[in-house]
Amino acid sequence: METSNSQRIESLDKGQRIVILGAGESGAGAAVLAKVKGYDTFVSDRGSIKSKYKDLLDKYGIEWEELQHTEEKILNADAVVKSPGIPDSAPIILKLIALHTPIISEIEFAGKFTNAKMICITGSNGKTTTTSLTYHIFKKAGLDVGLAGNIGQSLALQVALHDHKYYIIELSSFQLDNMYDFKADIAILMNITPDHLDRYDFKFQNYIDSKFRITQNQTTDDAFIFWDDDPVIHKELEKHGIKAQIYPFSAIKKDGVIAYAEENQIKIDKPYDFNMEQEKLALTGEHNLYNSLAAGLSANLAGIDKTAIREALSDFKGVAHRLETVDTLDDITYINDSKATNVNSCWYALQSMTRPTVLILGGKDKGNDYEEIREAIHAHCFALVFLGKENSKLTDFFKDFDLPKVDTHSIEDAVAACHNLAVEHMARLERQEKFNGVNVLLSPCCASFDLFESYEQRGDLFKAEVAKLKKMK
Ligand code: ADP
Repeated sequence: METSNSQRIESLDKGQRIVILGAGESGAGAAVLAKVKGYDTFVSDRGSIKSKYKDLLDKYGIEWEELQHTEEKILNADAVVKSPGIPDSAPIILKLIALHTPIISEIEFAGKFTNAKMICITGSNGKTTTTSLTYHIFKKAGLDVGLAGNIGQSLALQVALHDHKYYIIELSSFQLDNMYDFKADIAILMNITPDHLDRYDFKFQNYIDSKFRITQNQTTDDAFIFWDDDPVIHKELEKHGIKAQIYPFSAIKKDGVIAYAEENQIKIDKPYDFNMEQEKLALTGEHNLYNSLAAGLSANLAGIDKTAIREALSDFKGVAHRLETVDTLDDITYINDSKATNVNSCWYALQSMTRPTVLILGGKDKGNDYEEIREAIHAHCFALVFLGKENSKLTDFFKDFDLPKVDTHSIEDAVAACHNLAVEHMARLERQEKFNGVNVLLSPCCASFDLFESYEQRGDLFKAEVAKLKKMK
């Protein structure tokens, strides 16, 4: 996805026409910001606009349309703010590109109107957790901080209505694609594994380049935090000419690493010495160690007091749908990891299982290679339940696995199958006197859109099924 400089906004003078494409959280926020800053503002969404956003647009007297893109009202824009969900291949975008109309993201637009310090987090996995945890630390330390990007209220709306001194921003690769001048004061890159390749001409390199845009425009006064053990990040570092001060983190102490775990302690060496007992971390599992290190490091860089960082890292409540323990019924613990929409995140979820597990996986496959979880499944799972509209890729791939497998097409059937498999397995374990309970893990490796509206709905319905089981007891 090549970035053309012509997409950069040279000047934004009052009275110019700003068209916002897509009226979700980011689009509606960008529209309000454009309007209050005195631009001729128009919003167009090819789908239907949620009533809460229509109300917001009406409140600010912003003209909008839905279920269509009226070209005469769009192609005359001086600049376009595009929702990250709209691909560059959409016909209206192709026309705007041909006209050399600058097309930017909501974050890029909002960034032009605030002097706040920006702490930006990207990566293939761990973004939301790290963003929420970082926000929690800053908030707990009493800083004037906003949470933005893929979570919470849009950055643009916050800048328009109640600007903060710091923002903790989760950035997807799609948001980074339309960012040109925006600069992160602290950039965090958690990891890079293949994802969303359908939006990147099926070229992993394009997706990598997009992720590295988090470092663009950074100067020697800024900080770049990244996971040192990621082979992709390592290989690419030099190529991207990083100017910021680098702060690599790793699970173990080694040369050059600034934050790490050593002798059951979490340690950060720079800019201030920090340590805490690893067992006090609220989030468990190896992947969450990385998330805690990255969040702790950014708080340390912002000069937050050690006690506040320690407290916040140990009392964080976690984020829904990410390895969320739902309930334990008759020694079966149900874990909702519905947000695991790629194979890598399921791999991490499996690593954190300390008891035999029945795994629910399936959904809309984004070109998955299940080879990556072959060993983890052998090590942690006693059964597999496929949950999708169409499970043939899964049934084919796992056909040689010597495990019970059940094919399901609804969350009710999937949870019922897991329950039965768990009961049977526990009966066997009890006979062998190795009994310590089992887990049912929803960590699907796939997007949810074949059977559900979103991963949140999939997770909520899973939780509702567990609640039904509880009632039946
Ligand atoms: P994102 O916002 O990047 O999708 P989340 O924080 O929502 O990431 O976590 C999604 C899933 O990814 C989690 O349920 C967990 O299984 C896995 N995960 C979380 N953090 C990491 C990490 N640092 N590395 C790898 N996988 C992770």
